[in-house]
Amino acid sequence: MAAHQEKKSEERNHKSTQNNAQAPQVQWGRAWEVDWFSLASILFLLMFAPLIVYYFIMSCDQYQCFLTAPLVDLLTGKARLSDIWNKTPTLTYTAAGIYTVWVAFQVILYVFLPDFCHKFLPGYVGGVQEGAVTPAGAVNKYEINGLQAWIITHALWFANAYYFHYFSPTIIFDNWIPLLWCANILGYVVSTFAMIKGYFFPTNAKDCKFTGNFFYDYMMGIEFNPRIGKWFDFKLFFNGRPGIVAWTLINLSYAAKQQQLYGQVTNSMILVNVLQGIYVLDFFWNEAWYLKTIDICHDHFGWYLGWGDCVWLPYLYTLQGLYLVYHPVQLSTANATGILVLGLIGYYIFRTTNHQKDLFRRTNGNCKIWGKKPEYIECSYMSVDGTKYYSKLLTSGFWGWARHFNYTGDLMGSLAYCLTCGLEHILPYFYIVYMTVLLVHRCIRDEHRCLSKYGKDWKRYTAAVPYRLVPGLF
Ligand code: NDP
Repeated sequence: MAAHQEKKSEERNHKSTQNNAQAPQVQWGRAWEVDWFSLASILFLLMFAPLIVYYFIMSCDQYQCFLTAPLVDLLTGKARLSDIWNKTPTLTYTAAGIYTVWVAFQVILYVFLPDFCHKFLPGYVGGVQEGAVTPAGAVNKYEINGLQAWIITHALWFANAYYFHYFSPTIIFDNWIPLLWCANILGYVVSTFAMIKGYFFPTNAKDCKFTGNFFYDYMMGIEFNPRIGKWFDFKLFFNGRPGIVAWTLINLSYAAKQQQLYGQVTNSMILVNVLQGIYVLDFFWNEAWYLKTIDICHDHFGWYLGWGDCVWLPYLYTLQGLYLVYHPVQLSTANATGILVLGLIGYYIFRTTNHQKDLFRRTNGNCKIWGKKPEYIECSYMSVDGTKYYSKLLTSGFWGWARHFNYTGDLMGSLAYCLTCGLEHILPYFYIVYMTVLLVHRCIRDEHRCLSKYGKDWKRYTAAVPYRLVPGLF
């Protein structure tokens, strides 16, 4: 832990002091100009992403998770849009109350409860930590207390379920569509506020980007690290809480609903809870590492993150549990074991790959990867003010197999979640399709950014590690 606390971003260790006011504006970070394809994709997402979420949740509510059934009904004239809409639960005071208390509680845990977990959990990095250098050369401090928030929230959940009984553990499932309206309201309010803030009172004006295209700026964000006060960081808060803390609670609520409806919880539901629970706990255990991922290091805060974290993530990442409430699949022991093994291997690859990069960057290459001194490529880049920085790109361990083997592990885990639901319906498989599109697109987006950042050094790296996700294939 001491080693972690001493750590400073390796870029900072290698910062050259040759500030040069005349340096040309560097291009790394988000795009300055918008091409037609990006604009079309953004308009498509702005218009259709909320409808996609609604369609999935409504298919479960009204059509037992038959994904194509609403469409077939509409096309054959069996149902009209108004019929479907009229059957959809509306926003209720109960849901508004639950959601307000939920978000307010997470804000309180985030802002007012400094981390104490790092004081007694060996190996856990919490408390005040530094993020990476921003394109404008700033280094932000973050209060890492997500694990603590997750533990407190879940302890209260179980205390209520087994002792206090103030509310039913099925509360989330029972209010799922009314809560969707609340999540949408928050998602839009936060993204719109972030846009206005970017124009009129940005936290760090030098890290703002304006493309001049309203839709692109709204979607991809203007401010890099919008904050209120010293500690309320929009990206860290909305990325992790309320959405990811809620993820495991949502799954628990689905399990409780199965118990209520069928008198038992199926092994598939337990698998979903366990595998996704590991993923969520991993996220909070490694929240300090998360500061160095693309979401925090490179993405600006707009609708993509604001609405995505409030609506897309909690609603679409939990589809397997929702499906299992309507279709309680009991897997054979062999299938359950196979899925568990796939999920655990995927998780092992995901975690080990991420750990190898983190260790390598944190120790500036003074570490062992698979028992050997790491191999790497030296590279350099410049921030907006012309300061030159040096960095290294790891080419051994899983990083020698492919340039994004962490994504490959993530995809294996994602497939395992879907397989728990059997092969009867396509709805639960949305997650693996979505993750594949997301991570392949992310690969391309990240590599484009890295090429702008590192130039010819990046080309040397891609020559040394030619594959992106699967060695020999892609
Ligand atoms: P990475 O953790 O792979 O980070 C990419 C960055 O790492 C690059 O921009 C570059 O940044 C640096 N880098 C690239 N290659 C090397 C190398 N060889 N050696 C050292 N540094 C390198 O990607 P993400 O942030 O996208 O993902 C983090 C994890 O989160 C992944 O495991 C991913 O699967 C998961 N994820 C999950 C999502 C979900 O919705 N469930 C969504 C997105 C991600 P630099 O500028 O510092 O050089």
